[in-house]
Amino acid sequence: MGGEPGARQFTRIIHGGLAPDPTTGAVLTPIFQSTTFAQEAVGKDKGFTYSRSGNPTVAALERNLGEIEGCLPAACFATGMAAIHILFLATLKAGEHVVCSDVVYGGTVRLLRQVLADLGIRASYADTSDLAKLAAAITPETRLVLVESPANPTLKLTDLAGAARVTHDAGALFAVDNTLLPLVQEPFALGADVVVYSTTKYIEGHNATVGGALLTRDEKLAEKIRFLQNATGCIQAPFESWLTLRGLKTLPLRIARHSESALVIARFLEAHPRVTRVAYPFLDSFPQLELARRQQKAGGGMIAFEVEGGTAAGIRMMNSVKLCTLAENLGAIETLVTHPASMTHAPIPAVEREAIGITDGLVRLSVGLEDPEDLIADLERALAVQPEHA
Ligand code: PLP
Repeated sequence: MGGEPGARQFTRIIHGGLAPDPTTGAVLTPIFQSTTFAQEAVGKDKGFTYSRSGNPTVAALERNLGEIEGCLPAACFATGMAAIHILFLATLKAGEHVVCSDVVYGGTVRLLRQVLADLGIRASYADTSDLAKLAAAITPETRLVLVESPANPTLKLTDLAGAARVTHDAGALFAVDNTLLPLVQEPFALGADVVVYSTTKYIEGHNATVGGALLTRDEKLAEKIRFLQNATGCIQAPFESWLTLRGLKTLPLRIARHSESALVIARFLEAHPRVTRVAYPFLDSFPQLELARRQQKAGGGMIAFEVEGGTAAGIRMMNSVKLCTLAENLGAIETLVTHPASMTHAPIPAVEREAIGITDGLVRLSVGLEDPEDLIADLERALAVQPEHA
């Protein structure tokens, strides 16, 4: 998805792949809440037969996402995890191998370790921010490399163009989970073969749905993904697609404001005496600032930080916020604070979590669209809470 957030993207997002409904003139694509579609004669249908195989509302979202990203129509799924599952099934067979970023969404690790390992699909995890380590993790059986950048929740970055080169040199496919940065990072321009979204996050953006999408420019892979969408039955539901289409229309406005507010709040946290560490890609202190500026058009809405006093202090602060909500999820209009060690990344064993920087004291903040001054006041008050008052 190209351009500055908010610049020259609105037309494509609002109209790409969409048109008023031909039968009624409805400007918004209607919710086609129908299981099945009448056929004119045996073997003669209007492009839809049964909603597990395809549905007009879902198809509108799939076209729209494809137009926005500059690729074939997407395949949309019931959740982001369903999309990732189909990515693995479409690219890997028993005995084959995937390399993932070491910091990757906990559900992806759980799927590989507790479901796909039993089917003979092998996985390893590499610090993909170091291209030599990525290259070393690739084996003759590697068919896929899946990178999250920024990684959830530490926000460590991977040089996507470099990682694409290393992956392609080894003859594997390069997939990017771009959930944290729709519109502000363009994985296809940086060499990705597949882009993954949990549309649950910024794309739908209103904490109203769970959903996922896979996008590619490769016709054969798209066909395989489409086949698996039907065969495994994990397509998105029409109402979810309609809500996601509606959410998408304001994505450039939202992602620009998420990013602006997050930078203000990251600077506040960095200057706060009780905050010991802040990670935000567009902070001057961010170790990979140059890379962030090269491959991202904005910093995004996510901040990771630690509070003086370690885990207990971090948890006390998270339990004390009032305007921010303690909850899983990210990328929505409400500011959410999350404890990755016990929530989103609990499926990863504690020793491994610590080793990759997901400490028990790490706080993840998904900055919403409220006034940043109000969010700062809430965080300031929560950071000041002493143990006896928590
Ligand atoms: N990818 C990333 C980066 C995520 O943060 C998440 C969920 O938090 C997922 C994938 C999974 O998406 P879903 O929760 O929609 O299944």
